[in-house]
Amino acid sequence: MDQPLSENVPLDDDLLRELIGDIDFDPDQLKTRYLAERDKRLRSDGNEQYIEVKGDFSDYVDDPYLERVEREPLTDHTQVVIIGGGFGGLLMGGRLREAGYDDIRVIEKGGDFGGTWYWNRYPGAMCDVESYVYLPMLEELDYIPKHKYSFAPEIAEHTRNIARHYGLYDKACLQTTVTGMTWSDDTERWTIETDRGDRMTADFVAMANGPLSRPKLPGIAGIDTYEGHTFHTSRWDYDYTGGDNSGNLTGLGDKKVAIIGTGATAVQCIPHLGAAAEHLYVFQRTPSSIDVRNNRETDPEWAASLEPGWQQERMDNFNILVSGGDQDVDLVQDGWTDIFRNLQGAKAKEAARRLGRRLEKREYGRLLEMADYVKMNGVRDRVDEIVEDAETAAKLKPWYRQFCKRPCFHDEYLPTFNRPNVTLVDTEGRGVERITPSGVVADGVEYEVDCIIFATGFEVGTTYTRRAGYDIVGRGGQSLSDHWGDGMRTLHGMQTTGFPNCFFMGFTQGAVTVSVPQTLNEQANHITYLLTELRDRGGSVIEATPDGEQMWLDEMASKARLGARFRAECTPGYYNNEGQQGNPNHFFAGSYGAGPIRFFRLLSQWREDGRLEGVDLR
Ligand code: NDP
Repeated sequence: MDQPLSENVPLDDDLLRELIGDIDFDPDQLKTRYLAERDKRLRSDGNEQYIEVKGDFSDYVDDPYLERVEREPLTDHTQVVIIGGGFGGLLMGGRLREAGYDDIRVIEKGGDFGGTWYWNRYPGAMCDVESYVYLPMLEELDYIPKHKYSFAPEIAEHTRNIARHYGLYDKACLQTTVTGMTWSDDTERWTIETDRGDRMTADFVAMANGPLSRPKLPGIAGIDTYEGHTFHTSRWDYDYTGGDNSGNLTGLGDKKVAIIGTGATAVQCIPHLGAAAEHLYVFQRTPSSIDVRNNRETDPEWAASLEPGWQQERMDNFNILVSGGDQDVDLVQDGWTDIFRNLQGAKAKEAARRLGRRLEKREYGRLLEMADYVKMNGVRDRVDEIVEDAETAAKLKPWYRQFCKRPCFHDEYLPTFNRPNVTLVDTEGRGVERITPSGVVADGVEYEVDCIIFATGFEVGTTYTRRAGYDIVGRGGQSLSDHWGDGMRTLHGMQTTGFPNCFFMGFTQGAVTVSVPQTLNEQANHITYLLTELRDRGGSVIEATPDGEQMWLDEMASKARLGARFRAECTPGYYNNEGQQGNPNHFFAGSYGAGPIRFFRLLSQWREDGRLEGVDLR
């Protein structure tokens, strides 16, 4: 797209047709339908509709997988403490070890490493980004996943292998929840307190808490009155259901089961529930968009042909394509890259070539919108092809643009609705009405069930400290909840003024990547660079300056508009803060609007520059 701007040749319907195929639909009608579906679902309580999992509901987050092991409280000192043992913590620990840091402690709530993949063991759980891209450190560990999309047990095993490879078990505190963190100006150290009575100290702390780590429940009237069995998908009760990640849920053979929610998690576990339960009721508020998965075993010949450096190359290729960039080859070739090739890169490039100039902004917008309609029409047609009952098929069709919600790819989800023992209860966007002691009520009808499974997702859009579950007290006794009272303030999403030697990872004003570990890896590399510079320059304290923080806030603000209009037209969900975008804590408010390619380039230029602009090092 490097052609110069020339005279205005309009991107007319003929050219559009050549680029995206037949336009056998009325775009205005579709747009009207999309907006009507959004309006049906907008509600004034937004995020407040959900219940925080604490107090009477705290059972929902107990660890069903491992017994608690007692230990004595710790009061020792460690050079670097990493909070969180998921991919963020593992990448941080690994990169620090590679840079020669030996004294590292990971503190993790779960009974083992894994984070998301420790907790999410539901039947059918698998990564939805190609495993050769998604699983970090494959070359470092000399490992090739068994399938194009790995199942949860293999991913969890890989997380433990990373921990072993980098010696991260040595000083780890598992089954340990941080309850507070305080900086001392006198000792220039952090004191970290935990639910085990620990009061340990550290020179540096990396916060790898994870973006989707706190399950949430819907605030449905009567939820606390239900007398049957119940659990959240992120704490799957295999003692009750029987079976494992591969299914065989034999405990459900004589059970009527309700699942509430039809997001990315539900889509993966519903086929197994449908195969096992005496009867399954799927309570749907908004259908997901379900495209082809085509999972397959890894080809050993392909694996043997890989040259050193292949994973970074593949990760970069994928990330560029799914960020709307252009690449000569598409190494991954799956549903994700297909969407983006159709919606952004290649089509826009082709249009520009034909017109002999760059597309104007509104032409680009029109091309994207029309390509989106075509793509979503295909997704809706697929429902008709697979689901036999026309009425059920109609209810399973998503009426919104791609990326209003995380797109799903699955080959067994839609066929599940052809089973005679599976009923789709579509709530027309209103959600479940009530829960009674014996079942679930929707549209005035009570469905009596033995078990309710909540596939209702995770807390997003609440403040960082509420999601972390503790506050952080920085220089001069200032709390992070105060400092971020009007929203996050960071330099590059990783440091904040008044909180020296403390680093944030995840979606804290950085870039959101489709493959989340890629962002975490970039952050781990950047933080390792900062610590190494500090060590090499003989300093002991590193902190973002107020100017540095402001510089990043300005840069964030200048890019914040991108995507905001798109999200405003979407059906509600966590991507658009349940339709209330003003919230300074919402998911995309914490992300860099110009996207990951530019963000990663900006970070690497900042490092190459070497002046550490915006950072105070003393
Ligand atoms: P989501 O937040 O995506 O979905 C929650 C579901 O619960 C939605 O269908 C929502 O409906 C529904 N819901 C909420 N309240 C009610 C109610 N009162 N009545 C009826 N339904 C209700 O959570 P998930 O756990 O599915 O996914 C969370 C994220 O985790 C994904 O977006 C993805 O990023 C990640 N994930 C990744 C996977 C991977 O393979 N890498 C696999 C699974 C998840 P509505 O849409 O109307 O709000």
